[in-house]
Amino acid sequence: MSTVTYLGMPPFPQAAEVSTKDERLRGNLRHATHTIRDKRATAVAELADWPELRSAGARIKDHTLRHLDHYLEQLEEAVTAAGGTVHWAADAEEANRIVTRLVRDTGEREVVKVKSMATQEIGLNEALERAGIAACETDLAELIVQLGDDHPSHILVPAIHRNRGEIREIFRTRMGHWGRAAPEGLTDDPADLAEAARLHLREKFLNAKVGVSGANFMVAESGTLVVVESEGNGRMCLSLPETLISVVGIEKIVPTWRDLEVFLQLLPRSSTAERMNPYTSMWTGTTEGDGPRHFHLVLLDNGRTDILADQVGRQTLRCIRCSACLNVCPVYERAGGHAYGSPYPGPIGAILTPQLDSMATGLDASLPYASSLCGACYEVCPVAIDIPEVLVHLRERVVQGGTVTVRGQRTTVKPARGHAAERAAMRAAAWTFDHPGVLRAGERLASRARRMVPHRVPGPGRAWTDTRDLPALPPESFRDWWRRTRGPGRDAAQSRGGADGREGAAG
Ligand code: SF4
Repeated sequence: MSTVTYLGMPPFPQAAEVSTKDERLRGNLRHATHTIRDKRATAVAELADWPELRSAGARIKDHTLRHLDHYLEQLEEAVTAAGGTVHWAADAEEANRIVTRLVRDTGEREVVKVKSMATQEIGLNEALERAGIAACETDLAELIVQLGDDHPSHILVPAIHRNRGEIREIFRTRMGHWGRAAPEGLTDDPADLAEAARLHLREKFLNAKVGVSGANFMVAESGTLVVVESEGNGRMCLSLPETLISVVGIEKIVPTWRDLEVFLQLLPRSSTAERMNPYTSMWTGTTEGDGPRHFHLVLLDNGRTDILADQVGRQTLRCIRCSACLNVCPVYERAGGHAYGSPYPGPIGAILTPQLDSMATGLDASLPYASSLCGACYEVCPVAIDIPEVLVHLRERVVQGGTVTVRGQRTTVKPARGHAAERAAMRAAAWTFDHPGVLRAGERLASRARRMVPHRVPGPGRAWTDTRDLPALPPESFRDWWRRTRGPGRDAAQSRGGADGREGAAG
C-alpha cells in the first residue's frame, strides 16, 4: 500500500484556508520563491540551446520509461557485477521492511541520511523509529525540519517556511535531544546557525556505520548512482559509513552517461540556478579501500508502474524534482507546501501524489484542483511535463471515475464525492453541444436576456464568482454574427442587423 500522504491531512482547500491566513508564512514564501525564480530565469537564459536540452530531457525520459523493464534489468546486472545487492520493493511497506532488516543486520541503532524524496514518500524515518532505529537527517534544511518535528514544505528548500529566529529556537531547544547540543549564546546569524549544524552533524558523520540515501539518477549501462547536492553533507553520508543503503524510485534511471550529461545541465539551472552542481557524487557498487564496503540498492515501485499504464499521466514520471514548478506557482506561493499533505508539494505534488496514491483519499481527490491552470509550471519544467494537461485529466477522473490501474490490475473507480453538480453541468453541456438547434436557441435567449444575468452565480457555483467576475454576455452569438456578416442571405440579415444597430463579433 502506498503511504505517500501524511496521516490525517485534510483536503487541500481546508488546509489552504488556514495557511493562506498566515501572514509570516506568505511573506517567507513570497520572498524565497521570487528570489529563486528570478535567478533560475537568468541561469536558463544563458543557454541558447535550452529548448533543445529540454526536449532532449523529455525524449530520453520517455524512451527510458517505454523500455523501463529492459533498463532496470540492465541496471541490476551492472550493480550486482560491481559488488552491490539489488532489492525490489513493490510498495512502501516492502521497502521499509527491507531497509529495516538491512540496518538490523548491521547491529546498528542509528543511521545518517542524505536528503531523499523517496524515503520521505515511504515514511522510512517513522518505520525505522518503530523498529528502534534513529534516522538522522544531515541536509541542513531537513535537519531543521526533523528537529522541529515538522514536515518539509518545499522539495529543494524543505524549511522554506521557517525564518532565522525560528531556526535558532529549534536548534537551541532540540539539538541536544539528538546529539551535540547547540553552542551557548547561539544567535540567528546564518554563519552561527550553519556552524552549530556543522558541529552537530560532524559528530554524526564520524560515528555513523550505516548511511541511507536516495539518488537523483541511476545509469543503467554502468550501474552508477548519482546524488547531486549543495552542502557536501550528502557526500559524507555516501562515503564514510561501512554500509550504504539507497532507496530509489524506478523512474530515476537513464540508459547511458551521454544521457546523464543532459540532466546534469538541466537540473542545477532549474533548481538552484547554478551553472554546475556544487557536489555531484557518483558511485558504482563497492570499491576495496574506498567508501562503503556494503552497498544495497532498493528499487522502489510504490505506484509508479500504475502511473506508467496511464497514457496522459505517465509524463509525470519524467520529473527530476528540480522544484522550478513550485517557485512559479501562484497557488503554492500563497498556500505553502504543507497544504498539499505529502512530501511532494506544489504543481508536481498536485499530479504525483494522487497518482501514486491511486486517488484513494479526499486529499488526493482535492489536489488536482489546487491549480489555476495558468501553465507557468509547464513553461519552466525542464523535462516539459504538461502539468495542466495532467491536472485536467485527473479532474476528469475525480468527477467521472473510470478505469485505472492499481497495483497492476485494471480497476474501475467511482466518481469522488462532492462533484455531483459539476458532473450534472458537464452532462448538460455535452447534451447541448450535441444538439445544435438547442445550442442556437439557448445562445439567442442568453443574448436577449443578458442584462438580467447576475455578476455572481448563486448556489454551488458561488465560490467561483467570489473572486472573479462572470464574463459579460455578447449581444449576439458568433454564429448569428457570422450569418449576418459572411453567410448566405447576409444582405437581409445585415439590413436587420443595421436596423438593430449591432456591430462586431462576439463570443
Ligand atoms: S514537474 Fe518539472 S518543474 Fe516540477 S519538479 Fe518536476 S521536473 Fe521540476
